[in-house]
Amino acid sequence: MKTKTWMLLALLVLAVAFLPLPDFWITQLNYIGLYSLTGLGLVLLTGVAGLTSFGQAAFVGIGAYATAWLTLNLGMSPWLTLLIGLGITALSALVVGGITLRMSGHYLPLATIAWGLSLYYLMGNLDALGKYDGLLGVPGLLVLGWDVGQGRGFFVLTWVILLLAAAALLMLLDSRPGRAMRSLKNGTQMAEAMGIPTLRYKIVIFVIAALLASVSGWLFAHFQRSVNPSPFGLKMGIEYLFMTVVGGVGHVWGAITGAFLTKLLEDKLQVLLPQLIGTSGSYEIIVFGIVLVLMLKFLPDGLWSMVARFLPQPQRPRNWDAAPPLAERSKPQAGELVLEVHNIRKAFGGLVAVNDISFQIQAGQIVGLIGPNGAGKSTTFNLITGVLGLTGGQVLFRQQPVAGLRSREIAQRGMSRTFQHVKMIPDMTVLENVALGGHLRGGKGVVAAMTGMNRDEEKQLFKEAERQLQRIGMGEHLHELAGNLAMGPQRLMEIARALCSDPALLLLDEPAAGLRHKEKKALAAVLRQLQSEGMSILLVEHDMDLVMDVCDHLVVMEFGTLLTQGTPAEIQQSPAVRAAYLGTEH
Ligand code: ADP
Ligand code: MG
Repeated sequence: MKTKTWMLLALLVLAVAFLPLPDFWITQLNYIGLYSLTGLGLVLLTGVAGLTSFGQAAFVGIGAYATAWLTLNLGMSPWLTLLIGLGITALSALVVGGITLRMSGHYLPLATIAWGLSLYYLMGNLDALGKYDGLLGVPGLLVLGWDVGQGRGFFVLTWVILLLAAAALLMLLDSRPGRAMRSLKNGTQMAEAMGIPTLRYKIVIFVIAALLASVSGWLFAHFQRSVNPSPFGLKMGIEYLFMTVVGGVGHVWGAITGAFLTKLLEDKLQVLLPQLIGTSGSYEIIVFGIVLVLMLKFLPDGLWSMVARFLPQPQRPRNWDAAPPLAERSKPQAGELVLEVHNIRKAFGGLVAVNDISFQIQAGQIVGLIGPNGAGKSTTFNLITGVLGLTGGQVLFRQQPVAGLRSREIAQRGMSRTFQHVKMIPDMTVLENVALGGHLRGGKGVVAAMTGMNRDEEKQLFKEAERQLQRIGMGEHLHELAGNLAMGPQRLMEIARALCSDPALLLLDEPAAGLRHKEKKALAAVLRQLQSEGMSILLVEHDMDLVMDVCDHLVVMEFGTLLTQGTPAEIQQSPAVRAAYLGTEH
């Protein structure tokens, strides 16, 4: 977003503060601001990274209780207790996240429920925290002697913090670490292959989300002038998630939209429902449940996605021409052995999918790995790239053993790959997807991204991504959304992403699958051009015309074993290969 838009939003906040709105509305806006802050964390956690948490209210509680206890018992300044509260929150989030984020599937949401419940009962049972009565008499906030503890002052403080947090998050999401975070949603295999330490990023996301909740709790405690466990329990944890999903969990503005709607709806329902039903109680929860189910069915991207449709899509300014190029690794000399595969073996239980396969790749060679379906090609590929562990054998990459290393460690040494089934971030542009491949060539982290200290590096990364896209003839598609591309360009984009990591060896898993004749021709041209530039390539491919056309050497597998290897001409003459493909007896 442009600076001008931010200025406008800040002015809007000030205008609201000075408008003759009834106090009731200012109070509503204050709550909406507080909820939105926690919701922002959920956008990052759930919308961006696909991690569901019902435990955010507990982190709000940590921020609130920390400041309440410290100001009341030690007479500390609220500004100091904010920092201490953030410290305690970060520490708890590191511990909770470090344990739970290793879990997959439903275990993470379940673990966050357990965490939310345990903290609630802890707050409710500790004498020092006043048990279920909580702590009373928390001081209000002062900024330079101005009372911002209530009403309009509190509104300005909360919404300025909210806007700053939203701006920081938007800057983060559009950055090297942000793209890495956005790559976490659909499994970690592709991200790891690009050198992204996925667990570490998940923990960082969990901590950021907890810190946002903690700030909200700090504000809340000084606004309410008291704390007790009930606003930090599981019910509120669920409500935070509800709000954000309804507003649009994939968008920063979705969090605020959701908080608005939920707060307004809640107030209306609390008046309306008892009149309808005849008794009072928290019946609005039932309506929320129904709304959530309907939303997930008919508008899963939330209400903000409907608003966003009418907003202009900002185009990334092309401002990187003057950026210095990224450093490149030293490449293998012509004839040097880039890859040596020695008797590698993989057993899945009783099935030996790869049975003592050996072959080599020299610098500048294109080696094809072929064989019928189920022969073990993809498994071989995954053994070399570290996705799967070897049952036996050794792999040397540029004379160094790489067996046992993680795929991102192997990526770091200069192996880069594409996938049999294209793995990309559909809602990122082609340019951004390719820049993901350059992850290991940048170094700016979360803080640099949030404060705009990463601009020079971003230019370098985008310049490199554009260069790689042009290298494979996709210079036209920079700003298109990757999900809108046809299969052919998607596969080429994956090659550009792999190239963006400056590899010494490129591994392509069935790059021609699903391509039309003309696209295959274009792919062959790209491969030959890469070879002429000195690139070494391992190509797993079904399309015999393509393989025979571009490969220098072929390795033929059948039922996990090595059938034969040789030049394309030799392979074409081989009776064993013909038999394997035509299914006849030798
Ligand atoms: P290709 O890529 O040549 O078509 P694969 O390497 O995908 O073949 O598969 C080789 C064999 O290993 C197949 O019989 C397949 O069913 C089996 N296989 C592959 N991955 C696994 C796995 N994760 N667990 C069990 N069996 C597997
Ligand atoms: Mg395969």
